[in-house]
Amino acid sequence: MKTISALTFDTKLDGWEKSRGFVKREIPIPMVDEKKNPRDAVAVLIQVQYAGVCGTDRGIWNRQVFYELIHESLKREKKTRRILGHEFVGKVTAAGSQVENLYGVKVGDDVSGDSHITCGRCFQCRVREDEVCQDQAILGISADGVFAKYIKIPAKNLWQVDFSRIRAEVAAMLDPFGNAVHACSKVDLRGKRVAILGCGPIGMFTILLARAFGAVKVIAVDPNKPNLRMARSLGAHETILLARPPAHAAYADKALEEAIEKFTYKKGVDVTFEMAGPNSSVNNAFAITRGGGHVVLFGLKDGDFVLPHFNRVILKGLTVHGVIGRQIFATWQTSQRMLSDKKNGIQDKIWRIVLKEGKGTILPMNLYNPEKFEEMMKKYPKILIKM
Ligand SMILES: [Zn+2]
Ligand SMILES: [Zn+2]
Repeated sequence: MKTISALTFDTKLDGWEKSRGFVKREIPIPMVDEKKNPRDAVAVLIQVQYAGVCGTDRGIWNRQVFYELIHESLKREKKTRRILGHEFVGKVTAAGSQVENLYGVKVGDDVSGDSHITCGRCFQCRVREDEVCQDQAILGISADGVFAKYIKIPAKNLWQVDFSRIRAEVAAMLDPFGNAVHACSKVDLRGKRVAILGCGPIGMFTILLARAFGAVKVIAVDPNKPNLRMARSLGAHETILLARPPAHAAYADKALEEAIEKFTYKKGVDVTFEMAGPNSSVNNAFAITRGGGHVVLFGLKDGDFVLPHFNRVILKGLTVHGVIGRQIFATWQTSQRMLSDKKNGIQDKIWRIVLKEGKGTILPMNLYNPEKFEEMMKKYPKILIKM
């Protein structure tokens, strides 16, 4: 049988508690086979060109997120091995008989796609709120993902890409870029002062987009100095170095509150994007946002949170937004346009500043080893795997 390499986690062979990282394993090459599986009529086989590594993958690497989703979904599938990864760009190499008819996608097309496989039947799907579908699987978490040379996914998830408008390495990040577009579409940012807590890749994309959408002051907050330098070169007006909070701290950071007061003439920011996830960061978000302002929560961590002075959320009249995934495909349309418009500089900055023109940030799959991979994840906010 023909096999390909994939980056995986196995509940039996690796074990959540006693391992970390991803294990490279040989797996059978997936096939579109309608005789065996009638649903393959609407599935495609994709040869992956680049796959993005994101915060979710780091979280799984360190066994901090998605324990339940991974284990429960594998149990349902009666399997123990999950292929990880959910951000990709690649070429369609085989397609079920209904794919072109229903989705206009053909063999040979270059595609990226949404990582959430939605059911299409539930209430939310029917009212076009697929991002909160009641019966969805997420690539690389509750369905097999994209860290492999070939993947099989439903054609309805695909988004066609044109490399003359968006280079392949950047198109591989349409999914996380879309998270930032979705987060920024929750509030009208024109003329607003904005804080971004957590300058990982999606926080960085949010800086670029907040400026493009008209925010007049963007304040980037992170405990990591190189991230803040990058935030400034992407266009943040101010940066605040956050003292690294103890692991399970639940309190807001006084020094941060004071720094925000200074930058906002004692008003607090109009909008806070929480893109990091720790309990303390959520409390920071509530503390630094002005009365009547908006808090957009995107960062995610497992476990129970403590919210001291929770009544302040009400007393301050805050509006809190939870953001998951992307609106399919309204967000994708906006993402494509924001990246294709060469004049706004967003694509160029992502390529030059975030991806460092690929220097040291792209790992060929055949050179994968856990030590090297971990070193790259530590060194760069965003890395890609070249399949
Ligand atoms: Zn991601
Ligand atoms: Zn649904």
